[in-house]
Amino acid sequence: MTKEDRIMTTRVVALTFHDVEHNGKAAEPASDAFYRIRAAELEQLLSLLRQRGYQTVSSKTFRAWQQGRGALPQRSVLLTFDDGYASHGEVAASLLVRYRFTGTFFVTIERVGRPGYLTWEQLRKLVFLGMEVGSHGLTHRPLTSLPREELERELVESKRMLETQLGVPVQALAAPGGFWDARVAQAAQRAGYDAVWASTIGTNGRETSSQGLRRIVVRQPFSAERTLALVEGWRPGLWWATNQQTLIRVLKRALGVYWYEQLKRRVVPDA
Ligand SMILES: [Zn+2]
Repeated sequence: MTKEDRIMTTRVVALTFHDVEHNGKAAEPASDAFYRIRAAELEQLLSLLRQRGYQTVSSKTFRAWQQGRGALPQRSVLLTFDDGYASHGEVAASLLVRYRFTGTFFVTIERVGRPGYLTWEQLRKLVFLGMEVGSHGLTHRPLTSLPREELERELVESKRMLETQLGVPVQALAAPGGFWDARVAQAAQRAGYDAVWASTIGTNGRETSSQGLRRIVVRQPFSAERTLALVEGWRPGLWWATNQQTLIRVLKRALGVYWYEQLKRRVVPDA
């Protein structure tokens, strides 16, 4: 296999994290325990990735590679953090720096500066540390359910606010709640986004649509080894994760968020 072949066949897994619990206490008490992991668990995963020779790439670096600009490390992983929790600035960022990794942080404008969430100052620090910041909407409402003008406002205004406050171009969007469709993708393109990250399980290659990039959501029960196996493209693991994520989406749609939450609490202890 030539070097060129290896680059052509590169597959990249993107992981999605939410709140990170530190010293037994979640930074945001109302954050969903189902999607929350402990700082020690995050560190265990980062350490495993480092041992296996993984390097992180940002959404921007990945897109550049997709467009034929620049190469990717042979073992690349994309770490994304959703919702702009304060723990991302207080816990996750310093762990990333310690392991010489970077992350892509998707922020919901309405939550910036609220208790438990990142402030603009903390967001500027993330940018200073070499992290990428992307939009996660203005209000975190599911974009698929919004009328055209509101959808556009969510996409255009959140991008504009982030760019004004942080002084850097914002090119990536993560669809809140993973609610994404072709209409959202087209609106995102019109709003000037270069990458739209969904919650469709899978790996990303050159051919993957930049308007529907795939991510695997990290959730409880957490296992660093199992998560590493997903990053390494362990197929039965991807199959199971895909079906779990699809099931969650179907249940959320069928039951509505309230009943879905009730069911989840019965199935997942301590959620
Ligand atoms: Zn979210």
